[in-house]
Amino acid sequence: MLTFTNRTALITGAGRGIGKAIAETLSRQGVTVICVSKSADSCGATAAAIIAAGRNAKALAVDVADGAAVAKAAEALLKEFPAIDILVNNAGITRDGLLFRMSETDWNEVIATNLPSCFHWTKHLARPMTRARWGRIVNITSVSGVIGNAGQANYSAAKAGMIGLTKTLAREFAGRNITVNAVAPGFIKTDMTTEFVNNPEVAGKVLEAVPLKRFGESADIANMTAYLCSDEAGYITGQVFNVDGGMAM
Ligand code: NAP
Repeated sequence: MLTFTNRTALITGAGRGIGKAIAETLSRQGVTVICVSKSADSCGATAAAIIAAGRNAKALAVDVADGAAVAKAAEALLKEFPAIDILVNNAGITRDGLLFRMSETDWNEVIATNLPSCFHWTKHLARPMTRARWGRIVNITSVSGVIGNAGQANYSAAKAGMIGLTKTLAREFAGRNITVNAVAPGFIKTDMTTEFVNNPEVAGKVLEAVPLKRFGESADIANMTAYLCSDEAGYITGQVFNVDGGMAM
């Protein structure tokens, strides 16, 4: 059991996959979770399951790529909750393709959903954390942002940007006892990877690059994230944790 003292967390992309696992894991530790996703149905289902298990959750449908919508949502939340102590920037999308075939739309959509979303949520939620002199921010980046990945110029650029943001904000907020870290998953079994995880030929090729020779589970990322959000992780900031079966050594 990790220590969480009466904490509230906001997790983006909590409707499915890794974000849902993070919301469930934190809620099992007694954290009140605000589950954000694009569609009301998916964050609603995550929050309903947590509430049905006797824990505290709220669902919120917001397009994280829309800075004005994030600002409005954050303002309302800060009136409703006495404190939001933990922010997990997890929402993300991919639109893969080699550079010469990548459209400007695919470039822009992937960047907007993965990177400026972190800027907007952090800008709004970190200010009250600075006043409280306690906070945890975890950005879910990717192995693609650490070592690159052919076919993911947009995604790798956004995820590498998240690492730069993490390190800079760790320095800016350290004096206020707010830690900022990143978790870099490898290939995790979620809707994002179904296409190749369920295709034995492609899966075999992908796993050649994974020393542990298997795909990860959402819980692998959720466990690392929960630790980084706990009281116990108070002396860790500005770091990138690769949870990738050994891909980026
Ligand atoms: P996923 O199963 O596709 O789920 C993505 C979640 O993000 C969904 O809940 C989705 O909302 C939400 N989302 C997407 N765009 C959004 C937007 N504009 N506004 C609000 N919410 C939005 O993805 P995942 O595999 O769990 O990935 C989670 C994070 O881990 C992503 O940042 C991803 O880049 C990163 N990651 C994943 C892997 C992997 O192998 N799976 C590897 C490395 C990094 P809806 O449910 O409403 O659609």
